[in-house]
Amino acid sequence: MVSRDVWRKAGEAGFLLASCPEELGGAGGDYRHEAIIIQELAKCGCLDFNIHLHSALIAPYIYQYCTAEQQSRWLPGMRSGELVAAIAMSEPSAGSDLKAIRTQAVRDGDSYVLSGQKTFISNGHLANLLLVACKTDAAAGSKGLSLIAVETDKVEGFSRGRLLKKIGMHAQDTAELFFDNVRVPVANLVGEEGRGFPQMMEMLPQERLTVAVIGLAVIDESIRSTLDYVRNRQAFGKTVFDFQNTRFVLAAAKAEAEVARVFVDNCISRLLDGELDAVTAAMAKLWVSERQMAIVDNCLQLFGGYGYTLDYPIARMWADARIQRIYGGTSEIMCQRRSKSRPLGGAKVVHLAAHLGNAGRA
Ligand SMILES: Cc1cc2nc3c(=O)[nH]c(=O)nc-3n(C[C@H](O)[C@H](O)[C@H](O)COP(=O)(O)OP(=O)(O)OC[C@H]3O[C@@H](n4cnc5c(N)ncnc54)[C@H](O)[C@@H]3O)c2cc1C
Repeated sequence: MVSRDVWRKAGEAGFLLASCPEELGGAGGDYRHEAIIIQELAKCGCLDFNIHLHSALIAPYIYQYCTAEQQSRWLPGMRSGELVAAIAMSEPSAGSDLKAIRTQAVRDGDSYVLSGQKTFISNGHLANLLLVACKTDAAAGSKGLSLIAVETDKVEGFSRGRLLKKIGMHAQDTAELFFDNVRVPVANLVGEEGRGFPQMMEMLPQERLTVAVIGLAVIDESIRSTLDYVRNRQAFGKTVFDFQNTRFVLAAAKAEAEVARVFVDNCISRLLDGELDAVTAAMAKLWVSERQMAIVDNCLQLFGGYGYTLDYPIARMWADARIQRIYGGTSEIMCQRRSKSRPLGGAKVVHLAAHLGNAGRA
């Protein structure tokens, strides 16, 4: 598991909050800097160090929806690595269907009293700043959902469950979280009460694009490490690279990597222009994560038995890739959920399945 010390060192090195505006305490870059950090983490096999979740997914909630007072309370700590952030939406009985979450926050004077349980929370074991999705009005459906920041060092009644044992991403602390009448100041509400659902929907395009950026980085790295291997491995008096099948597999992978790069770069440009809509981001996540899994699997095959051992990074890439089709919304949800989320700077109501239907008729 990545230690707190490593988080602080990443802060000292300037890797945290790269895209956060300078006037708010960030590095003053933009999403492209986050993408480069992801690429570099992929190159050294460290994607389970979840900087991107902290900087590219959670910090934007704070500079988009929080008050100046909240920003000054949390962003400097997130920049230095003293605060490690997590976002807690999923629950044991509600993952894809976020409207079904049960965690409740009941207003009591100047506090909310938070009760419930979360699971699968990335950075969950280390995090000391949690954005918790909860119901502030149980009768109002999605309009009763809010986001509340929990500073775990300052509250009572909060506990962490076991670290989940996963098939990949072993250095990433994925945890269960429990809230037993946790009293949180009303001043920790993120944005407006009852707007948690639209806030999460507005942030989804960036989250899904980030999964695609990770996928592309891993595709590149899997091709690179496979080329290294097959150029050296001998069979039947030649290198594995000399077999026509090997060249075909790698040529197809490289072609798909280039297609993915053009699409992902285009999505990044749209994001920077405030025009990345939910459907486009869903397509990027769907296609790149599915191709990532297939390409890494094909690359692993070229390692033969060594591909199945942890002696070569391709085995970890393979195990780590599997989650990409699940978190941030499953591949099925990318195709099927009707989303009304708008780009932060635009206004499109979109439905991927409907788009496919229209395209088919056209
Ligand atoms: C390593 C890891 C890290 C994670 N990090 C976080 C995190 O930081 N924060 C957080 O809040 N969550 C996190 N998650 C949770 C993740 O987002 C959910 O697991 C995911 O959204 C799926 O939810 P679920 O597991 O409840 O599956 P379910 O919703 O129970 O889905 C089960 C199956 O049903 C399918 N399905 C569901 N609804 C539909 C539908 N309408 N149409 C067709 N098929 C459907 C799904 O695609 C899936 O195949 C993480 C999960 C993992 C494993």
